[in-house]
Amino acid sequence: MQILDGKLVSQAVKEDLKNKTDILIKENKKVPHLAAILIGNNGASETYVASKIKNCHDIGFKSTLIRFDAAVNEAEVIEAIHTLNEDEDVDGILVQLPLPKQINEEKIINLIHPSKDVDGFHPISVGKMVQGLPSFISATPYGIMLLLQHYKIDTVGKHAVVIGRSNIVGRPMSILLSQNTNPGNCTVTLCHSRTQHLKEICLQADIIVAALGIPGFLKEDMVKPGAIVIDVGITRIEDKTKKSGYALKGDVDFENVAAKCSYITPVPGGVGLMTIAALLTNTYQAVLQKNN
Ligand code: NAD
Repeated sequence: MQILDGKLVSQAVKEDLKNKTDILIKENKKVPHLAAILIGNNGASETYVASKIKNCHDIGFKSTLIRFDAAVNEAEVIEAIHTLNEDEDVDGILVQLPLPKQINEEKIINLIHPSKDVDGFHPISVGKMVQGLPSFISATPYGIMLLLQHYKIDTVGKHAVVIGRSNIVGRPMSILLSQNTNPGNCTVTLCHSRTQHLKEICLQADIIVAALGIPGFLKEDMVKPGAIVIDVGITRIEDKTKKSGYALKGDVDFENVAAKCSYITPVPGGVGLMTIAALLTNTYQAVLQKNN
């Protein structure tokens, strides 16, 4: 069993981006600039955004954080997006999800200009991705593709089972793995909460991507020997032994599943770090596209 090390690979991606950013700056072109909108005080969202901002800083990107109170009205958020869309200096815009109830997520995502949609959630980005055209790819599935690529994992003709059909993880993941690309060329089964005989389907899988948000869901008896297991889940579980008061748990019962796999991602230290690396890659791409 080999660990797919998100820390190592994300570090390599970021070093490469840092070098490319140094060149951009030397050539007086542009400092890549990511703007993030954070609404409310959700602990996990705070952590994710802080980490994205820190990573921008580490590789020489500029970042802007726009914060709103949880009770903000939709019009104010819309106004902020219009301002960022029009700001020539801003290359990428992300709105940290989830949003409070009074804000329509779909409406907000659709307002981000597609040329700055570095999270890859806009219908134009998704449509291009589905057609295999160059586009911003949703950061989590993109990060997983970068991880598979780094380890030169042969995915051709393999049966990939994706558990979870969300617009930001499961569905784009299933499309990317099915495409005529490398990694890709898998035969894909997309499973969800209404899937029957999930265990039997998982037992046929060469690759399993678990993205459902139920800690420890994928058990040893659902995985065939030698399978590749990618754990997307991140759930905070109370843990008084930790300084933070919680531990992060993936969707895979890692302790019991790992020995059965050929490759597996840990939580933390796997997909989460790759998601940030992919977001930064998209932001860098946004700069290049603007300069073309
Ligand atoms: P979501 O809640 O939007 O979707 C969950 C999906 O799981 C749904 O499509 C649902 O049909 C499916 N599902 C639920 N119960 C199921 C069951 N019993 N059997 C089969 N399918 C079932 O979640 P999401 O936004 O896709 O996130 C999934 C997990 O990934 C969460 O833990 C989230 O925190 C995590 N996540 C991690 C990253 C990262 O960077 N690592 C990024 C995004 C999300």
